[in-house]
Amino acid sequence: MKRREFLPLATLAAVLPRRLCAAPAAAPEVMTVRGRRPAASLGFVLPHEHVLVDFIGAAEVSPSRYDADVAFAKIKPYLDEAKSLGCATLFECTPAYLGRDPRLLVRLGEASGLNLVTNTGYYAARQNKFLPAQALREDADALAARWLREWREGIDGSDVRPGFIKIGMDAGALSAEARKLVQAAARTHRASGLTIAAHTGNQVAAQEELAILKAEGVSASAWIWVHAQNAADEAALAAAGREGAWLSFDGVSPRSLTRHVTLVTAMKREGLLGQVLVSHDAGWYRPGEPEGGQYRGYDVLFRAFLPALRKAGFGDADIRQLTVTNPARAYAIGLRLQA
Ligand SMILES: [Zn+2]
Repeated sequence: MKRREFLPLATLAAVLPRRLCAAPAAAPEVMTVRGRRPAASLGFVLPHEHVLVDFIGAAEVSPSRYDADVAFAKIKPYLDEAKSLGCATLFECTPAYLGRDPRLLVRLGEASGLNLVTNTGYYAARQNKFLPAQALREDADALAARWLREWREGIDGSDVRPGFIKIGMDAGALSAEARKLVQAAARTHRASGLTIAAHTGNQVAAQEELAILKAEGVSASAWIWVHAQNAADEAALAAAGREGAWLSFDGVSPRSLTRHVTLVTAMKREGLLGQVLVSHDAGWYRPGEPEGGQYRGYDVLFRAFLPALRKAGFGDADIRQLTVTNPARAYAIGLRLQA
């Protein structure tokens, strides 16, 4: 019997393809309000929702405008309902100065068992009403340094870290402040690998955002076009999707079912289902309104939208891609730079 010959390890390394020898890449992760989780463990994701939003404006917004216990009691049943319908992870997209409350999110995450994710960044939509003074005064590098401090040290003295960057811009050509926020987001991404979710008024704003990201060396795949359902035409969406951008059709409601089914179907036809996210942009507790105002739950996607997609010919694999695979990839922490 011929003796088997073993190659010395060094020789083996020289003859094997390089990628087999390299150390295995760490599994992608997402940062929740209760710490890191493997992106593959997020399960069914609602990628754009809110639990609390306060539109009072940056000058007056404060946690003292509501009783956190009362807000908690109002919000929790809606999270419980989402969980009972199959949701496991919810991205809370309320930015700083609009009612972002990391401590409330930790309590809600612990009580509901959902993975909740919060964000860093500022919101320049609605003519800068929600921008703090430093956003007007400081340059993009200084703003990025502030957001990176939250990423490295935690938000507002808590140990809660952001899981993505949230910025916001009005429709049309970007204001000087909005352009600065996109630059700051790009630089924060380059130093953290956090995904940029950008509330975007329309396709004009979207195209300008993408151009700035490119100029900063950041790939479109690090950017989520939030409220992409507001684009005027499917061609603009498909063009962004082909560049690698994430298309967030996040206005699912009883009234918008047809529009959302049409958009997701169009992207599937274009071979871009792998770029699509679906969510309600629902909630939320409203400080200053009686009993926190009217709360919209997170159930329409489960009860009406996914059944409507199935009727339109979407199978289990498609639904899983939209609700599990895509959000895990979109929000996984990792550098995505221009090739
Ligand atoms: Zn939103």
